[in-house]
Amino acid sequence: MKTFCGRANPTTGSMEWLEEGEDYDYHQEIARSRYADMLHDKDRNVKYYQGIRAAVSRVKERGEKAIVLDIGTGTGLLSMMAASAGADFCYAIEVFKPMANAAVKIVEKNGFSNKIKVINKHSTEVTVGPDGDMQCRANILVTELFDTELIGEGALPTYEHAHKYLVQEGCEAVPHRARVYVQLVESKRMWSWKKLFPVRVEGEDGEKILVPPSEMENCPGVPSVCDIQLNQMPSSDFSTLSDVVTMFSVDFSKPVQSASTYYRVQLEPVKSGKAQIVLSWWDIDMDPSGMINCTMAPYWVKPTSALQWRDHWMQCVYFLPREEPVLQGEKLYLTACRDEYSVWYNLQKAREGENKADEEEHEAGVGVESPVCRCRAHLLWNRPRFGELNDQSRTRRYLEALREVLKADSVCLCISDGSLLPVLAHCLGAKQVECMQPSRIDLYHPHELWQAFFKANHLEDKIKIIEARPELLKPSHLEDKKISVLLGEPFFTTSLLPWHNLYFWYARTAVSTHLASNVTVLPHSASLHMMIVEFQDLWRIRSPCGTCEGFDVQTMDDMIKDSLNFRESKEAEPHPLWEYPCKSLSEPREVLTFDFTKTVPQHWLGTEGSVKLLRKGKSHGAVLWMEYHLAANISVSTGLVQLSNEKGNCEWNPHCKQAVYFFSSVIESEILSEPTAVTYAINFDTKTGEIAMDFKL
Ligand code: SAH
Repeated sequence: MKTFCGRANPTTGSMEWLEEGEDYDYHQEIARSRYADMLHDKDRNVKYYQGIRAAVSRVKERGEKAIVLDIGTGTGLLSMMAASAGADFCYAIEVFKPMANAAVKIVEKNGFSNKIKVINKHSTEVTVGPDGDMQCRANILVTELFDTELIGEGALPTYEHAHKYLVQEGCEAVPHRARVYVQLVESKRMWSWKKLFPVRVEGEDGEKILVPPSEMENCPGVPSVCDIQLNQMPSSDFSTLSDVVTMFSVDFSKPVQSASTYYRVQLEPVKSGKAQIVLSWWDIDMDPSGMINCTMAPYWVKPTSALQWRDHWMQCVYFLPREEPVLQGEKLYLTACRDEYSVWYNLQKAREGENKADEEEHEAGVGVESPVCRCRAHLLWNRPRFGELNDQSRTRRYLEALREVLKADSVCLCISDGSLLPVLAHCLGAKQVECMQPSRIDLYHPHELWQAFFKANHLEDKIKIIEARPELLKPSHLEDKKISVLLGEPFFTTSLLPWHNLYFWYARTAVSTHLASNVTVLPHSASLHMMIVEFQDLWRIRSPCGTCEGFDVQTMDDMIKDSLNFRESKEAEPHPLWEYPCKSLSEPREVLTFDFTKTVPQHWLGTEGSVKLLRKGKSHGAVLWMEYHLAANISVSTGLVQLSNEKGNCEWNPHCKQAVYFFSSVIESEILSEPTAVTYAINFDTKTGEIAMDFKL
C-alpha cells in the first residue's frame, strides 16, 4: 500500500505530494510520538499506579471481581499496573495498530498475557457479550486520553460512549475527575501573538504609523489551541489580573456528556489592567478523595520544587476576542465555551445594579460561536509569526538596512510570505515596490487582507502584488523595469526547518534575468550556525526508557529507535528552543554560508570540521539555525541571540523554531572527563534544498 505525504519542497517553496510506502507514515508517527515522554513522566506514572491500586482495592473490598477497561493502552502500561495491583482481568484497547502490536509484545514480556487482552480497535467499535471483545462490562475504567487542552484528543466522546456501552453503572474511574483552571492576565508578549501592533516608520517625510485594518482588531482568530511551556515564560512578561479559578470539572466515574456547552464563572480583578489572555491548565485526581493529584499548574501557582517536566501536557494560552480594560474589584463574567474537542473564552462585564433577570439575559448571550478568522490575517500568519512581525527591534534592523540600500529611484521586488518589507520599503521612499508571496499562491488568496491593510494605511495602488511564481515572472509584471533591490526577510510559510527559507536563494536564481546589473540583494547572504548542547529536559522525548515503574518497556524503546533510523537517514527536527532550555557545550560555529548575490550553485555545499567541547555536560545533540546578513553590520539571527559564557546558558529567538539533531546513542551522553571534540560533516544538497549531517564524538 502507498500513502501520499505532503511536504514542502525547499527549492520551489511549494507543497508536493510524495508517494511513500505505508511504513513511512507509521515510522513518522512512532518516531515523533510522545510515548517516550509519557514513559519518562514519573509524576504521572506514580500517580496513575497509586490511583489504580486504590481503585482495585475498593472494588475488591466490595467483594467484586475487578474487571478493568483501559482505553488507549499504548504500551499497555496502565493495564500492567492494574494486573499487578490484583485486577482479575483487563481489556486493553488501542486503535493504532503498531502500538497495539507493541502492547501485545510488552504484555507478554512482562508475563501478563493471561490477565490482559489487547484489542486493536477504536473503543467505540468494541463489543460486549459472550461472543464479544469483552465478556462483560468493566467496573474499573482507566484511561489517559488527555492533551494539554484536556479534551482535544477526544476524551469526552470516548468517555460518553464507554459509560453507555462498556462499563457498569457506578464504576470506578482512574482518573476520577479533572478540573480546568483559568487565570486572567495582561501580557503584551502573548497578545502580540494574536494581532498586529502599529508599526512606526521614520520615513523621508516624518514618522508614519502603519495600522492594522479594523477587521483584524476585532477578529476572534483561529480555534486551534495555543499550547506552550508556560514555565519558560518569565513573570516579567505578564501580569496576573485575577486569582486562579476553577472553570469547569469533569467526573469520569459518571456518565459524561460531550455535546457543546458553556461554563461561566464570576471574577473580580485583583488589579486593574487590560484583560487580553486567559491562561489555563488542568489537574486530575486519581481517586475520589482527591489525595492523589497530578497537576499542570505553572511555577507561580505551584512550588518549583514540585514541577515535573513534560511535553505531552503543557499549558494553554487563550486569546480573548478583544482586549478589555478592567478595574480592580469590578464584577466580570468569564465564559468558557466548548465543543467536543476544543475550548474558547469570552469575557463580559456585569452591568450596574445587575439583578437575576439580567444574569439570565447574560446567560442567553454567552453561547459565543467558536473563533473563525474573518480578517484572513490569522490564516496568513500563525502565532509565532505575529510575534515576529510585532518584534520592534527586529523591524528596526530591517528598516536600518533598507535605509542603507534604498535610493529614490529603487525598483524593489520582495519575495517572502506575508511580509511587511514591501510596505516599509515604500514608506522609506522606494519608487516602485512589488511583492511576491510564493508559497501562499496555491493555498488561497491573501490579497483581500493586503488590500484591507493598504486601504487602512492609504497605500492603495502603491504596492503591487504579483500573482506569479518567481520562475514565471515577466518583464510586464515589472513595467519593463529591471529590479534594483531584491528583498526578502526571508520567510516562507512552508518552511519547517531553518534552512528551508533558503528558498529565497532559489527564487532569486529564478528571477536573475530581471535583476539590474548593479542589483542589491537584501539579505546579501545567510549563514548556517551550529552548536553542541546539553538540554535541561528536551532529551527525554528521544531517550530510551528501559523500565517504567518496574515494567519492561524496552520493546517500545526499540521501536522508537527503529523508526528514528528508518532509511538510515536521521533528520534534524524543529523545536522552539525558547521553550526548551539548554546549555551550550561548544562555541557556536558558523558552518556554511550562502551568497545571495550569486545564483544557487549546481554542486553540493559541504563542510567538515570539529568543535571542542568547552564544558562538562551531556552532549545530547546539535542545534542549528540561520542568520541573515542584511547589510554591512546588520544581521538577524533566527537562533541564538545571546550566550552567557560562564555557564553556557543560551537565549534563543522567541519567534522561530531551531533545528535539533539528537545524537543517536547514549555514548555521546557520558560526562566528559577530559577535553573532547565533536567532529561533524554537514552537506547542503543544492538539488533538494535539504541538509544532511553526521556527528561523531
Ligand atoms: N495508556 C498509555 C498510552 C496513552 S496515549 C499510557 O498511559 O502510557 C493514548 C493512546 O490512546 C494512544 O496510543 C491512542 O492511539 C489511543 N487512543 C485514543 N483514543 C482511543 C480510543 N477511543 N480507542 C482506542 N484507542 C484510543
